[in-house]
Amino acid sequence: MQKKWHLGIDDTDSQSGMCTTYLATQIVEFLILNDVKLLDFPKLIRLNPNIPYKTRGNGAISITFSAPENKINLLWNEFVRLTEELSDIQDKNTDPGLVLIKGDIPNSILNLYQRALFQVIPLDEVKRLLAEYESIRTHTVKSGRGLIGATSAIAANLINDYTYELIAYRDPKNNSHRLIDEPSVIEADQKNPLSFNNYDYEHKQVMIIPHGPDPVICGIRGETTSAIIKVWEEIKVAQTVKNVMIFRSNQHTQVHFPKEFSIEEIEPYTSVKVRGKVISEPKDFPGGHVIFSIESLNKRIAVAAYEPTKRFRKIIRELKESDEVLVMGGVRPESSEHPMTINLEEIQILQLSPQYKKITPKCPSCASSLTSSGKNQGFKCRKCSYSTSKKEYINTPIGRKIRCGIRYVIPICAQRHLTKPVSRDPALQFHIAEAIDFEQAFDSFLKRRPFITKA
Ligand SMILES: [Zn+2]
Repeated sequence: MQKKWHLGIDDTDSQSGMCTTYLATQIVEFLILNDVKLLDFPKLIRLNPNIPYKTRGNGAISITFSAPENKINLLWNEFVRLTEELSDIQDKNTDPGLVLIKGDIPNSILNLYQRALFQVIPLDEVKRLLAEYESIRTHTVKSGRGLIGATSAIAANLINDYTYELIAYRDPKNNSHRLIDEPSVIEADQKNPLSFNNYDYEHKQVMIIPHGPDPVICGIRGETTSAIIKVWEEIKVAQTVKNVMIFRSNQHTQVHFPKEFSIEEIEPYTSVKVRGKVISEPKDFPGGHVIFSIESLNKRIAVAAYEPTKRFRKIIRELKESDEVLVMGGVRPESSEHPMTINLEEIQILQLSPQYKKITPKCPSCASSLTSSGKNQGFKCRKCSYSTSKKEYINTPIGRKIRCGIRYVIPICAQRHLTKPVSRDPALQFHIAEAIDFEQAFDSFLKRRPFITKA
């Protein structure tokens, strides 16, 4: 009898090579070869991007399939073998973890995902949780810290919002340059509005190509599988493509800011959404960083737009004292040089404080501009003989360059995988998801795959 299984994998990659999605692709190939039915696309799940010991992406994988109970030992042994073969275990920060859950996912595990999106989850807690269920299998290398992400990825629910990513791979032994034609990326991006973040027009940068030594040639992201397949078909790639896989993902859905925090509740390495009043205006610091502070309920915290956020800093410099803002970002811990600081990903202006500029009044008799008669004295007119001992400037309201009701998001080149780009909002307005029968959609992708893998 067929049973439903959920496999989760995490912490197999490092800064210096390999990639958990490549391992997932090899596992999918093995399952297909053994006539195991996948019940969904493999899932690429991004978790809290501020965990200090993780690679910047903090991405875990889960795969849901159906297989008879008597086949599971064989499959599990191969999952373990492939993980050990394709993990960068030499790296001191790579501690792989595998989790296999049969049937429905227990509630206590489902809740873990919601927290893993913005908090730091202790490994002990996850180990205790998994140990409560006899039927759950795990495999760990070294500390097995990957169990946190592996379990969270299984628990990830992609019901309200999700995106897809098509990832193309080269031979992992051949990590030469990635040869993708830039104009063809721009053209394909413009022709396919349901694919996004392919190109950063502001900084003239191709965004689909990673820069590490991993086997990924490129990753194309979008709302539908058909949109990303089209982009992939339209871009010019001048190298051998070994494989392509499509993942369903929580990337670019902004799920890492699920609730508002008060300033008092903020902890290091978490992702937070906080509202407050600007209490000290933005200042430029060496290295190109722009920093201001907000206050709420008598607590304050520093907020920073760092140099890599480029033009976004122009928006931040426009903030004035008493502006009410909603900030979203990752929390950097306090150090000897700076206090605990929110590293901005997005800001919304809730209310702009009125700003005035002082101008000198006009002469009541000849209408020329008055000039100051000196410190602690009034005004005088240079054209006629008018003078006054009162020094009352006129306050004129100043127009502001920033607006309420807009999501100001850091540019594509600085975005985290979970950041929701502004381009998604209008694209989704009239978009109805084309496939919610994921099993069928994945099958049709597999049939199509031989025709879209470029030689
Ligand atoms: Zn005058």
